[in-house]
Amino acid sequence: MLASGSRGNCAVVASSSTRILVDAGISGRETYKRLKSLGEDPRLLSAILITHEHCDHVHGLATLAKKLRIPVFMTAGTHQAWSRALRDKNGERPKLEKFERFESGCSFQVGDIAVQPFTIPHDAADPVGFTFRAEGIKVGIATDLGYLPVSVRDHLRGCDVLVMESNHDLEMLRGGPYPWSVKQRVMSRVGHLSNEALAGFFANDYDNNATFVVLAHLSDQNNHPEIARRGAEKALAARGSLFHNRLLLASQSEPLEPIRL
Ligand SMILES: [Zn+2]
Ligand SMILES: [Zn+2]
Repeated sequence: MLASGSRGNCAVVASSSTRILVDAGISGRETYKRLKSLGEDPRLLSAILITHEHCDHVHGLATLAKKLRIPVFMTAGTHQAWSRALRDKNGERPKLEKFERFESGCSFQVGDIAVQPFTIPHDAADPVGFTFRAEGIKVGIATDLGYLPVSVRDHLRGCDVLVMESNHDLEMLRGGPYPWSVKQRVMSRVGHLSNEALAGFFANDYDNNATFVVLAHLSDQNNHPEIARRGAEKALAARGSLFHNRLLLASQSEPLEPIRL
């Protein structure tokens, strides 16, 4: 997890032969800096995958695509929304040298990594979460979603690494500084997942399979890492799974130590 939160999201999923950048929400320069700080060579990336067109997921995309000249995978809806938002004053849309279209629900391959995109409830054109499978390991990423529909919960079964949104504490959001309209958007079925909703998932639906659980996309304003951690720990402990799981928190300001399996 290079960065996670409303000011930029970016992660790397890698097998021994393929490296995928998931979202490009921090600047190209910052992406390079953070990759290098982890000993990763940006030139070894095989592809960029985009979950949806919100700025905190695509901010560095144009720069990175140009510099790295690797395929960029997006749904048609996400691509259209992204390119429309970046039109210049003549209405000209940006072009990706290597644009690869995928459809939510249809798996595809990047090198030896099998990618399964699935639809998530979020207020974007065609937003997706992903699971990745390679070398007997499954990784799931589900952030930016208003709730966890059955279809999403199904896709997240059997993950060895599970990256889950823990966006806000409901009480902090209600009493916090956002205007009411924004609070409503965040809390809606197409907004962001609360600590409480995630705890409900851990307590009732989670299959207890993951070796690592990562809490992600924490709000600066309406959450606190310790509140998010405590909520998740409590829910996981109730399932007797705390020793089995390692709970980590992704941060906005610095990359997470790489998880190796
Ligand atoms: Zn979003
Ligand atoms: Zn986001």
